[in-house]
Amino acid sequence: MSIMVPSKTPALITPGRQALDSALHQLHQAAEHLGLDDGLRTMLATPRRSLTVSVPVRREDGRLDVVQGFRVQHNVSRGPAKGGIRFHPGTDIHEVTALAMWMTWKCALVGIPYGGAKGGVAVDPATLTVREKERLTRRYVNEILPLIGPEKDIPAPDVGTDEQTMAWIMDTYSVSAGYSVPGVVTGKPMTLGGSLGRAGATSRGVQIAALAALGRSPEGVSVAVQGFGKVGALAAQYLADAGCKVVAISDVGGAVYASGGLDVSRLRAHVAEHGSVRGYPHADELPLDDLLELDVDILVPAALEGAITEANAPRVRARLIVEGANGPLTPEADEILNAGGTTIVPDILANAGGVIVSYLEWVQNMQAFSWSSGEVELKLRDLMENAFAEVRSLAGARGLTLREAAHVIGVGRVAEAHQMRGLYP
Ligand code: NAD
Repeated sequence: MSIMVPSKTPALITPGRQALDSALHQLHQAAEHLGLDDGLRTMLATPRRSLTVSVPVRREDGRLDVVQGFRVQHNVSRGPAKGGIRFHPGTDIHEVTALAMWMTWKCALVGIPYGGAKGGVAVDPATLTVREKERLTRRYVNEILPLIGPEKDIPAPDVGTDEQTMAWIMDTYSVSAGYSVPGVVTGKPMTLGGSLGRAGATSRGVQIAALAALGRSPEGVSVAVQGFGKVGALAAQYLADAGCKVVAISDVGGAVYASGGLDVSRLRAHVAEHGSVRGYPHADELPLDDLLELDVDILVPAALEGAITEANAPRVRARLIVEGANGPLTPEADEILNAGGTTIVPDILANAGGVIVSYLEWVQNMQAFSWSSGEVELKLRDLMENAFAEVRSLAGARGLTLREAAHVIGVGRVAEAHQMRGLYP
């Protein structure tokens, strides 16, 4: 059986296709290290279920638009599928497949009983009114309804979606079931069964991973953060709270810089009012992509895939890169930076805090129970620190990078689950 991805011709190399190539490259490196046979490699490289849907949406002016939506379950050998839903104009089936595959390794790496999934709708949410976004969400959910459920596949927020989107998903699914099913999504508002600590969980995990990798006092350590959304904004905040000096922050609208350090809470208030970091009066403007090349101690890419490629990697000067985003470095960039001595905490470890607390939210929902924020944070910290220590120790013992070690652990656990379960029929 061959891997079901289209042939690689230049015209087809979209950012999504690049992300899938990166994910497959990392898988094959890990499989090589683990000595997996060809059949198992092919199985791990191939999504278990992949659904493309058409989503008609009625616009406020009466027009009817039809956009494409996707839900991919990459692997369910260790438990139900789990993964976010992204609303972004550039998303395609390849990107969603790559993101689902990374979710599989991430859940296995941090030891939570889930497989990997991801969803996406190829739409720019900034062009939708709130009512249009609600109609689009509900119709998309209706189209993927056969796949999702608290015991099958549990979505969560990702780029362009938020807790309101999760509330609409929970409601649409519950109306169809005939009763309330809070466990069908995570990242919900507290009033619908959300978990304390979920909103900041990915960012808290980024902070924990960054400080563990730094290995010295964070006081005055300089940081640049690309992306100021759900992950980037709170990662910047938590790093600043820990004593770091956050000197530069960007979003899709622009980048700002202050050599003495930005007041992150003030910048968050500016963004809440104006929609972008651009125009923030207490800092200098910076060309967007220059942020990635600043001479800082820590760089946190927290926007989209493929931010650092072979083109700009030689100019990246950060000593430590902590991947808040999924797949922000291409394999070529990774190789260049590793050769230059940069420490890279890979996405499947650095941003795992989100899925860890999603898991905790789901456990609370399934038991109709709730934990305090202190209990949630303790469990998050414990799982993150254990995973970090395991990755660092394997990397040290076998001379691997942190990314290679993380993949060897994640892929190895999923391979073991396949081997123990055997093949039906
Ligand atoms: P989001 O939509 O809340 O924020 C994305 C941010 O990136 C926005 O500030 C946007 O303006 C910015 N951005 C987009 N293009 C940019 C560019 N070229 N330069 C600078 N900034 C740019 O999304 P999010 O949930 O914060 O997700 C960000 C990344 O983190 C994604 O890769 C996502 O898959 C990953 N992630 C998210 C979670 C989560 O819990 N939300 C968990 C794990 C991983």
